[in-house]
Amino acid sequence: MVSADEGLEAKIEQTLGRMTLDEKIGQMLELNLDIMGKYDANGKWQLNETMLDTCLSKYKVGSLLNAPGTRAATVEQWQQWVRLIQEKSMKYIGIPDIYGLDHNHGVTYTQGGTLFPQPINIAASFNTELARTGAEVTAYESRAANCPWVYNPVVDLGRDPRWPRIYESFGEDAIVNAKMVTAQIRGYQGDDPNHVDRYHVGTSTKHYFAYGAPWSGKDRTPAYVSPQMLREKYFEPFRAAALAGTLTMMVNSASVNGVPVHASYEYLTKWLKEDLQWDGMLVTDWADINNLFQREHVAKDKKDAIRMAVNAGIDMSMDPYSVDFCILLKELVEEGKVKMERIDDAVRRILRVKYRLGLFDEPNTGGKGYEKFGSKEFADKALRAAEEGIVLLKNEGGLLPLTVHRSPKILLTGPNANQMRCLNGGWSYTWQGSKAEDLAEKYNTIYEALCNKYGKEHIVLEQGVTYKEDGQYYDENEPQIDKAVAAAAQADVIIAAIGENSYTETPGNLNDLWLSENQRNLVKALAKTGKPVILMLNEGRPRLLADIEPLAKAVVDILLPGNYGADALANLLSGDANFSAKMPYTYPKEINSLHTYDYKVSEEVGTMAGAYDYDAKVSLQWPFGYGLSYTTYEYSNLRVDRKQFTADDVLTVSVDVKNTGSRAGKEPVLLYSSDLVASIVPDNKRLRDFAKVELLPGEQKTVTFLLPAKSLAFVGADGRWTLEEGDFLLKVGGLNVPVVCTKTTIWDTPNI
Ligand code: BGC
Repeated sequence: MVSADEGLEAKIEQTLGRMTLDEKIGQMLELNLDIMGKYDANGKWQLNETMLDTCLSKYKVGSLLNAPGTRAATVEQWQQWVRLIQEKSMKYIGIPDIYGLDHNHGVTYTQGGTLFPQPINIAASFNTELARTGAEVTAYESRAANCPWVYNPVVDLGRDPRWPRIYESFGEDAIVNAKMVTAQIRGYQGDDPNHVDRYHVGTSTKHYFAYGAPWSGKDRTPAYVSPQMLREKYFEPFRAAALAGTLTMMVNSASVNGVPVHASYEYLTKWLKEDLQWDGMLVTDWADINNLFQREHVAKDKKDAIRMAVNAGIDMSMDPYSVDFCILLKELVEEGKVKMERIDDAVRRILRVKYRLGLFDEPNTGGKGYEKFGSKEFADKALRAAEEGIVLLKNEGGLLPLTVHRSPKILLTGPNANQMRCLNGGWSYTWQGSKAEDLAEKYNTIYEALCNKYGKEHIVLEQGVTYKEDGQYYDENEPQIDKAVAAAAQADVIIAAIGENSYTETPGNLNDLWLSENQRNLVKALAKTGKPVILMLNEGRPRLLADIEPLAKAVVDILLPGNYGADALANLLSGDANFSAKMPYTYPKEINSLHTYDYKVSEEVGTMAGAYDYDAKVSLQWPFGYGLSYTTYEYSNLRVDRKQFTADDVLTVSVDVKNTGSRAGKEPVLLYSSDLVASIVPDNKRLRDFAKVELLPGEQKTVTFLLPAKSLAFVGADGRWTLEEGDFLLKVGGLNVPVVCTKTTIWDTPNI
């Protein structure tokens, strides 16, 4: 846990001591920049100073967010807008504003910056260093645009393939999310969260918590999660973020087990602020206090909702379009329904963030000293990250690599073949990632990247199916499959770039997890030509494709690899780079078999003969942690330094990994454990740690993990952390080694 800085704490008290109630409450409100201006006759958004003056002088508003029209602005525009906001903030309040943007996989809302692969690709890389460096670049470029606060990382756990936001976080596993968030926070905030310098930003780890577990699969709908799963899995990455010193967190818009998280004293105050002693600031998600009465119906009106949320532990309300919050919260304080101590606590936390970010000393950044914005150096990092986050799932007969010297004639088909939008996904120049092709013009689509790699004369583009750019993300134009089939005659090999168009949040909901029928028909028709088909999956979540997968000789899942994703793909396809990623989530095969890798052992039941001839099988397309490479690896000699352990021990687990192929490569090494018998049904296995190792042909390295025995504990039926006496297996790369816990330990503390 990050300890408070005494010097800063004294300044916070001084500032707090001179603030009026109005000023304190104003600090707790965050407004959308959109309401401070409008579009002129030329369609240019102009900031209205009078409106800004009112909000800052009368309501003392502490924070603003978002890009006008949710479309990326230029660095110069950001410089100008935020500078003006800061000038007025200092003039009217004497406290700097904190400006926040969804700079999610790079600087989403700043033109010309560097867009990295989405977090789901970073997860697939199993390389925490990529998470750190990507965040570092985004922090630098955000500060270049005078933005000190980003609404990232996202660690919601993508455990339900139906949910439209699983690509925004690091896949389905708690430990992958926890390790990645720790690395990202370091990258964004730098080494000292108390003193974040002018090249780093504050983070808002989100969306606390279990947002990714909607029962209906639809965005912002209720989650029903067992207390065990909540504590062991969904909470884990947020715990890691708190320990790593995330300056702020954003709250889940929906409810968990019937309790809207924005109204939960238990989750907000007890779990985070008390149990973890986390001294950061909690901001609501978009208008979510309003949702307590408008959508969730747990409050009777806005005032009641504000009372609930602030008393539960909300420090700042993102109430984008209204200043009612200030008026109503003041009444609540005067009526004694919200205590002054709670207001002071919230404002202290807000001031703490502003002091930690150095905003009092340097409210504006950017300009001189930020020459690396949008540089080749940053682009190279994004390209490397893209190469490490693309998964090879099938390669029959070594069809890949398609080396340039083989001069293959390629038919490139499918709706994802020639646009940037689908490579980037949502949160790319615009909220939905749509209508922004102009801002991504200088980057290569798959078609352009393949032309660059193999020569234009080697690539025939006939898409067969295309997306409707004006409709919903899933709308497609009338297919022209015959044209694609005809074009296949000229080709040696067919690459079908299929998947989804970009989306996020509620507009990304779906009713059918199968890949679109048009796209599956396209692949079926092309497979009939007898030419080898390579499926190139480009999608924000795993869409079912069990009927076309057997028709393909090779499958590559590029997920959402960003602006340099197509270049990375061309390098990988041609063999100029090697695949080194593994699936960050379980790819389902059938609609009634939506499992995660850590399913309960009893989810897998073999067929029982006789009258009750049924089964429950875990049937998957590709498992979590699966991915191929152009080389091969051999795991041997899995060993542990002790066969028996108790709670305080640390197990040293080692394994030798050898590159047995003829190419250099990088291999993610995943350490799992299984608790063979437990008092509540155990998970079939759990990832406990991972590392990525780089090996030349023939080279062997030993990978060693230090595994605290207590990390093998689970949350028992009584809600207490429990490590039970009995047998465990530790598993790495198809090997396993037994270990025995010799003494049961049960903890009374919520975190161990
Ligand atoms: C999203 C958040 C985002 C916020 C601000 C919300 O609708 O759920 O992820 O940070 O908007 O743009």
